[in-house]
Amino acid sequence: MKFYSDEDAELSLLEGKTVGFVGYGNQGRSQALNLRDSGVSVIVGNPCDSYADQAKQDGMEVVTIAEAVRRSDIIPILIPDELQPDVYAKEIAPNLRPGQALDFAHGYNIHFGLIRPPAEVDVILVAPRMIGVQVRRSFELGGGVPAFVGVWQDATKTAWDTALAFAKGIGATRAGVIPSTFQEETELDLFSEQALWPERGYSPEAVVMELYGSGEGAEVFREMVHTGFFRQMKFHSQTSQYGMLTSFGKLSSDDLKQNFQAALDRIRSGTFAREFLAEQRQGYPVFRRLREQAIQHPLNDAEDRLRPVLESTFKAGGHGGAASAS
Ligand code: NDP
Repeated sequence: MKFYSDEDAELSLLEGKTVGFVGYGNQGRSQALNLRDSGVSVIVGNPCDSYADQAKQDGMEVVTIAEAVRRSDIIPILIPDELQPDVYAKEIAPNLRPGQALDFAHGYNIHFGLIRPPAEVDVILVAPRMIGVQVRRSFELGGGVPAFVGVWQDATKTAWDTALAFAKGIGATRAGVIPSTFQEETELDLFSEQALWPERGYSPEAVVMELYGSGEGAEVFREMVHTGFFRQMKFHSQTSQYGMLTSFGKLSSDDLKQNFQAALDRIRSGTFAREFLAEQRQGYPVFRRLREQAIQHPLNDAEDRLRPVLESTFKAGGHGGAASAS
């Protein structure tokens, strides 16, 4: 399998183009700052609240989502997965024009058919294998984090090159881009979060990257040390949190294999996506209960007691300062 690095990607393809970020959270902020530092013209579409304030503080031009879509050539959709279909239908789809590119950091909504873009736009995937704060941190240090890149729909016949250029702009080609698909990224992402052992039918490179090669696991462990085992969950998408919390209690050493299989079946059959949709519609009763339980878990108190020790462990590891929550 070919991996793509800086010399395979042409940043100049983004010259004269505008990238309109829908969302300025974990991924949105980091990717927007990196792209801007790469010389790309960036605007942010976000309702007026703390995320918009953060974007303004960062010197970003903040407009409505509708205006960002109208003014942009590439539109990264970086709001929580479960909100994307509604925001897409109301604010993005009515403002699309042929030749634009919709970019996702997770294949979920496209793969499960919850968003169905028109045939005239490109649909690309640039999915960093890392929590958002690290996408920015590593870029500032001159590095990058690896990403899965894929194309769902190639209306312009340049979708792949656009995706690679975008990946270069956020620093992903510094670390390495792995060609993938919306299906592979979605299933691997959910499965590794929910069962930690994806292997069946996926490319070995993608599995290695997903399991440990990207270093995301190490970063997550660092955040566990620094922020807390459960409390670091805020750096992950809600889809990821819900998947982890609902699979967590089901794992035991005796029937690990069976449980992994069940977790994979739940993802592949679309049951997880349907269940999560029903959960959203009911106002997240299960999610709220499990999250509350996690936050009440005695582990949190133990971490508080151990805080000075954990902090010194973190510093000794040379991991720098704390990640700020988005
Ligand atoms: P966040 O939860 O950090 O997104 C927050 C952003 O979404 C804010 O700009 C917020 O603005 C906006 N938002 C929230 N509600 C709405 C709404 N109803 N309408 C419009 N905007 C809204 O998202 P993530 O960065 O965690 O996830 C974004 C994408 O990246 C997802 O597809 C996720 O799967 C993917 N991803 C995430 C990773 C991570 O590190 N978390 C890792 C890899 C992929 P406001 O509150 O002002 O509305």
